[in-house]
Amino acid sequence: MNFKKLVEVYEELENTSSGNKMREVLAEFFKKVPNEDIAMVAYLTLGQIGSDYEKDNVLGMAEKSVLKAIITAGAVESSKVKKLMAETGDVGSVAEQIMKNKPFTLIPVGNLTVHEVFEKLHKITSTSGSGSQDIKTNLLASMLQKTNGKGAKHLTRIALGTLRMGVGDMTILDALSIAYTSEKKNKKILERVYNICPDVGEIAETLAKKGLESVEKINLKLGRPFKVMLAQRIKELEELPEKIPAPWTVEGKYDGERVQAHKNKKGEITLFSRRLDDTTSQFPDLVKHLQKHIDAETFIIEGEIIAIDKKRKPLPFQTLMQRRRKHDVASYAKKVPINLKPFDLVYLNGESLMEKSYRERSEILEKIIKTDDVVVHTDKIVTSDLKEVDKFFHKMLKTGYEGIIIKSRADDSVYQAGTRGWNWIKWKKEYVKEMVDTFDLVIVGAFAGRGKRGSGYGALLCATYNHKNDTFETLCKLGTGLTDEVLEELPKMLKKYEVKKKPARLTIKKEMIPDFWFEPNLVLEVFGAEITKSPYHTCSSGLALRFPRFLKFRENKKAEQATYSEEIKGLFEE
Ligand code: ATP
Repeated sequence: MNFKKLVEVYEELENTSSGNKMREVLAEFFKKVPNEDIAMVAYLTLGQIGSDYEKDNVLGMAEKSVLKAIITAGAVESSKVKKLMAETGDVGSVAEQIMKNKPFTLIPVGNLTVHEVFEKLHKITSTSGSGSQDIKTNLLASMLQKTNGKGAKHLTRIALGTLRMGVGDMTILDALSIAYTSEKKNKKILERVYNICPDVGEIAETLAKKGLESVEKINLKLGRPFKVMLAQRIKELEELPEKIPAPWTVEGKYDGERVQAHKNKKGEITLFSRRLDDTTSQFPDLVKHLQKHIDAETFIIEGEIIAIDKKRKPLPFQTLMQRRRKHDVASYAKKVPINLKPFDLVYLNGESLMEKSYRERSEILEKIIKTDDVVVHTDKIVTSDLKEVDKFFHKMLKTGYEGIIIKSRADDSVYQAGTRGWNWIKWKKEYVKEMVDTFDLVIVGAFAGRGKRGSGYGALLCATYNHKNDTFETLCKLGTGLTDEVLEELPKMLKKYEVKKKPARLTIKKEMIPDFWFEPNLVLEVFGAEITKSPYHTCSSGLALRFPRFLKFRENKKAEQATYSEEIKGLFEE
């Protein structure tokens, strides 16, 4: 397929401000994409060159290198590019201007295909070592030479990692189900598969080449992460028996980093974070222990990594974050020792265990783990007595944990990948102090500051994710808790997400129109005191968070992993 065709769709998407229209445009386009190109088209539309969990799936070429490629491709003086850059401040627009007006002699030789773009972008990410900068620049220039102005705009944005079409994985799945199955309702099937195989390219290609039945057969694969199961919340502990039939397994809720550990037949361990990033290189100590101390040929185990002190007491999440590094990994492994608390087993010796009950899964898990000083059993009780639950909860708080997770042991307590279902309920210390809770909200806009905050943002517009509709809904304006340090950081962090108009998947009331728009990306943890009805916010058709206060950035979450609107609705009391 010619890259020009993709560019035409990008232009259409860029001018669309409704999520539904966007899905229609994409579906119509997908119908025309040749089967062998559909995976590449799906990734590129997301601004990526691979699935979310693959390393370097988003390019991040330096602005300087991209500008150099534009100069080469357009055969112009660097002063011209500099001048345009000073005027527009946007590399994409500069590329468009230059390539639109390129001299007659530079008319493209041959077509630029999607395949060539994909291949060359991959080459750009994999080239390293001396002279690699020039090779990368030349590769980009060779593509730019074959594009027109619009093509150059989008291509340079992909190269910079700033293509912002407003499309998410769910948008692609929606469009795929319309295009290939003619039924929007089949998206549910695609979504179920996506939770086990979060790779829109693989789903798209299987669907296009082999049909829906083959998509349904996609199963867990070692080395490919899955979307994890999440916990619901309740307002009072007394609600527990209505939600989960007793007896319950009650485990400590650890304040660390969730990890899924895969061991393949060669004995290699791969670790994936909650965001599905490969974090194997950060935890060499854990890898060694998992190789030695689990009695199974192949497995996928889930657990929480926590930092511990010399007396083996748990330390807060912030301490563990020191392990998030590329350099000095070995010395930090000594400085910040860790424990893994394994709490689930979803795959063992060639078979998925997701369909087994939690009771069965945890029994097998206990058998295959030999605990040592790194891999340590979770603290847990099995009980049908609410008083016991409460007692265990306080014991966990005293030990330094966040609270408890109550898990169903019923026959149907299967592993619900990617789902915030009622098989797990979390109960945290915030709940008993009569506070509402903390929420993970995504920044979608900002209001200009006044007075002391004159030069930056005064407040942020925060949203929840409506999982059913694949939209973002505003919940609050956040100004409290933003320290001077955070206020200084924010513009830098948000710059790459800034867009000129409302992101297509955002629903908003006119009273909340911000001064700056952001493509939903950056997630914050926000504390709130109460959920009230509000005509100004769109969360669950009009709910707002009162007295929101910034707590911290949640860089380990993607926009679609923000608190769901449905959760807010569940907490609202009429
Ligand atoms: P929170 O901000 O409350 O941690 P979250 O959105 O990160 O929430 P939740 O599903 O709400 O995720 O809470 C469950 C999280 O708690 C899991 O993702 C996991 O990281 C952590 N956790 C700690 N201990 C356990 C445990 N024993 N079983 C399951 N999850 C646990």
